Amino acid sequence: MSHTHQGKPQAALAAIGRKVEDMAYGTPPPRLARWLWAMPNLALICFLAVGVAFLLFVRHHEHQRQYDTLVDDLLWQEQTLAAQLDARQTLLQTLANDQTRGELDEAGFYRRAAIFLAADTELLSLAYVNEYGEAVWSYPAEAAEPLQLQAAVIEPIQRAARIGIPASTPTFDYPGAGAAFALAHPAVRGNQTLGAFVAVISVKGLLRQHVPWWIAKRYQISVVDLEGRTLAARPEQAAPEADAPVQAMLFDPPGYGLRLQGQLLQTGWPWWQQVLYGLLGALSVVMLWSLWVLKRHMRERLNAERALVREANLRQAMEDSLTAGVLALDRSGCTLHVNRAFCQMVGLEAAALLGSQPPFAYWPPESHDQCAQAFTAVLRGECPAQGMALRVMRPDGSRLDLRLFASALIDADGQHTGWVASFADVSELQREREALQGSHERFVAVLDGLDASVAVTDCDSGELLMSNRAFREAFDQIDQTGALCVLPLRGEAAEGEWFDAITGRWYQHHRRAVPWVDRPAVWLDIATDVTERKLAADRERQQTDKLQQTARLIALGEIASSLAHELNQPLAAISSYCTACRNLTASGQLSPAELDDALGKIVEQSRRASAIVRGIREFVRKREPQRSPCRVGDLVDTVLLLLSAPLNRHFVRVVRERDADEAILSADPVLLEQVLFNLGKNAIEAMAQAGTDPAELSLQSRIRDGWVDLIVADRGPGIAPDEVEKLFLAFYTTKEEGMGMGLNICRTIVENHDGRLTVLPRPGGGSRFVVSLPLSPQASGEAGSDTPEISLVHRA
Ligand code: ADP
Repeated sequence: MSHTHQGKPQAALAAIGRKVEDMAYGTPPPRLARWLWAMPNLALICFLAVGVAFLLFVRHHEHQRQYDTLVDDLLWQEQTLAAQLDARQTLLQTLANDQTRGELDEAGFYRRAAIFLAADTELLSLAYVNEYGEAVWSYPAEAAEPLQLQAAVIEPIQRAARIGIPASTPTFDYPGAGAAFALAHPAVRGNQTLGAFVAVISVKGLLRQHVPWWIAKRYQISVVDLEGRTLAARPEQAAPEADAPVQAMLFDPPGYGLRLQGQLLQTGWPWWQQVLYGLLGALSVVMLWSLWVLKRHMRERLNAERALVREANLRQAMEDSLTAGVLALDRSGCTLHVNRAFCQMVGLEAAALLGSQPPFAYWPPESHDQCAQAFTAVLRGECPAQGMALRVMRPDGSRLDLRLFASALIDADGQHTGWVASFADVSELQREREALQGSHERFVAVLDGLDASVAVTDCDSGELLMSNRAFREAFDQIDQTGALCVLPLRGEAAEGEWFDAITGRWYQHHRRAVPWVDRPAVWLDIATDVTERKLAADRERQQTDKLQQTARLIALGEIASSLAHELNQPLAAISSYCTACRNLTASGQLSPAELDDALGKIVEQSRRASAIVRGIREFVRKREPQRSPCRVGDLVDTVLLLLSAPLNRHFVRVVRERDADEAILSADPVLLEQVLFNLGKNAIEAMAQAGTDPAELSLQSRIRDGWVDLIVADRGPGIAPDEVEKLFLAFYTTKEEGMGMGLNICRTIVENHDGRLTVLPRPGGGSRFVVSLPLSPQASGEAGSDTPEISLVHRA
């Protein structure tokens, strides 16, 4: 797939990249690449080898030529010297001939010798010797001495003088002149030998005089004796190299193993050879350097190309991984390049897109003008920074919403060659936006559907950020700064009920800080209208009050008889006291003191009767709870009084434990009496129903950790554990004529006094109802008598 949208240049670039990579880093490297790298080195080595071989050949040839020349020159030199020696022999012969003819006298000899010696510097002396080799004449005079000293020298001279044959001597050391030799020529007259003329010749002088400059410049010419010692040389100071070409030949006369030797002086390279070698070396260095530079350049180039290929591959991968479509156009609008994402967007192959011109195949007919305008804007460089909306069409007819962005395409020379357009698929975005909008609308609908008022406000400024319909309807009181005017919706987190005076309604208000979309925390206020609930609760309370009232009236009927009985007692007492007073008054026995006592008793009984009546009225009258300090013992006493009728009716024994009779409670005594009366009545009825015998009602008061417990216990059937909670439900009763409101009212009253009403099974059978009430601060805390007072309330 990747090839389908790559243009030809990319494919070619990738192929080159692979080739370059293969050449530079392939494993193993191709043989051709190795040879390519080795070729310049081999060529250079061959070039150097051929150059050196050529120069060695030239040098060898030059040696040979020099040697040949040396041989020729040495031959010429030897002949020259031999000619010179012949000339000296001829000179001696001339003297000998003159002597033979008698034309030479001593003076003449000396004169001519002086001339000869002056002319020839190599000529050291001239002498005329007799047959014994003794000097007759000698010029210079002392020159005869060296000849006399050496027998080997004098012998050939003697031989010449005696036999008459020219001779030469071996070399000898001539004082002051180095090596020298002598030539002797006999003077013969007829068959008689007169003597011989001897010329001593300096070897050094001979060479100095007769080796020409052009020979001396090229060779060192030397005379070497039999033992290899150099007797003389020209030039004297030259030191030829040991391996310089040398040639020697016999030097005869004077003979005696002397050799004339020539050795080449200039063995060094000729200048042109030196120049050639230098050039060859320099060229080699330059070639090596250029080869190294070339290799380095090649390597850098390979690295650069490899980096280029990697970069190109990376860019290709990046481009392929893009979800945004990319399209490159030239300045005329012709498509130069497309990426994979663009091909997928428009559903066309890259080959079909490359080179295409507007109008493009992916322009939908219905949006043709819009597309044309968008592309015209791109080609004019007028594409806005936020992009342009565009709809494209796929071959299957489906449409896609895109957003188009464009920027100029600048080439490496900084030339503006076209435009690059990128396309973002916004269909999904659009769908998400619609989904978000739908979700928001649903959220708002749910929120507005709530009866509770919901508001979100900024923690710092109090600005209302969001509210629902219920809130807007109930609290449409926003000031100009947008801050909420509703007072309770400010400040700290809160939970509670609040009455809005403006609407006249009650609200359950809940406020807490919650994180918000664009800030760490905001206040979330939820205000639920609880007015109806509150009214219902009030109605219920009133209902309960009425029920309590009814219950009290019912109880009144039940206790009416006992009350009547109670009233009977004071009335009967009053009647008795009055009758007694009348009788005593009639008999005249009544003293004033007795009358006063009787009247006092009558007043006491009438007060008691009036208290009983007042108590009944208080009990029956519907009233609001009125708390006052009340003594526990008084409460219990009053209740026992109220219960006297049922107690008597069912023969129930009362057991009282007065542990906390002196304790003071802050309570409404009438309501608490009602509670204890109900509990006592239920206990008596339970025992009567069960036929408990003996029936016993226990009334106990005790203090426990700031609480006063009032316990009403019986020996009835008790209460099953699963029925305990049912007892307190309204209208729950097991009695035929019961109302089922007694315990419900009792619990309400006790809880209104901040107390608790609990029921427990009594050990030994029966049940225990415990009324726990908080002790009043003024409570004396003193418990009553430890000894329970047991009294039987048996009334006739
Ligand atoms: P009523 O007395 O009109 O039935 P109450 O609310 O006073 O209404 O009592 C509810 C029920 O609780 C009674 O019907 C009875 O079954 C049960 N009950 C109350 N006190 C006792 C008790 N001491 N022993 C056993 N059952 C009791």
